[in-house]
Amino acid sequence: MDLINKYLETFINYYSKFLIFALPIFIFYYVLFKKRFQPVKIQQKELLKSDLKREIFYSVISISVIALVVYLTLYSPITKYTKIYDDFNKYPIWYYVLCFPISMLIHETYYYWIHRFMHIPIVFKWVHAIHHKSTNPSPWAAYSFNPLEALFEIGILPILAFLIPFHISAISIYLVIQLSFAVYGHSGFDFTPKGFHKHWFGKWINTSLHHNLHHNSKSYKNGKGYSYGFYFTIWDRIMGTMDPLYDEYFTDLDERRILRKRDEN
Ligand SMILES: [Zn+2]
Ligand SMILES: [Zn+2]
Repeated sequence: MDLINKYLETFINYYSKFLIFALPIFIFYYVLFKKRFQPVKIQQKELLKSDLKREIFYSVISISVIALVVYLTLYSPITKYTKIYDDFNKYPIWYYVLCFPISMLIHETYYYWIHRFMHIPIVFKWVHAIHHKSTNPSPWAAYSFNPLEALFEIGILPILAFLIPFHISAISIYLVIQLSFAVYGHSGFDFTPKGFHKHWFGKWINTSLHHNLHHNSKSYKNGKGYSYGFYFTIWDRIMGTMDPLYDEYFTDLDERRILRKRDEN
């Protein structure tokens, strides 16, 4: 009974964190100021009610699976076999901080290759197709996966937990960082500054626009497929899977953002 309660607590906790990021973006950009921000929405198409319903439905399903893995890894009797520690003085503070960039790089490599694997046609059909039903993603699409894909997505957590010593608070913060980035990537809007795609730093960051192109059937169902990264564009650049239209789309979005600002003044 205690285990079930702990699992339910983990589910509610994870879903609440998802809501903390998804709900304000949705209310602000899709409800309250919909008209005002429409010109700078990445895709001009309206979000369909049927898409919204499906995305919310699958977010509950997939977070049920994710919460189970989070529970088993971080809060169950299995936890003692991982490298997770709770004594804050066990490692220096610089190590605590260093865990974040290291995890992001490991996660990036894991995600890129799992994502490429999920695009093999037979795997795509059984694992990844539901996520790609969102061709015009909203923040709710961030967790719109079938249960198998949810397992792949959260697979990074046990890998990190068994691979590197992680303070329990740091790994919990890391989960929030990856969650917020997933919501940003599916928000339907890009919040990066003008010319970010050409900036020495920005060109290595996987923007919401770049992931949106991955969802947009026009650019990914062209026989090849682009933009498989999560946080970064490192692997996309190494493997030649940067969307060739990325710069063009970014310039177009920049122009629309400038026009909207001018019209507001
Ligand atoms: Zn995909
Ligand atoms: Zn996606």
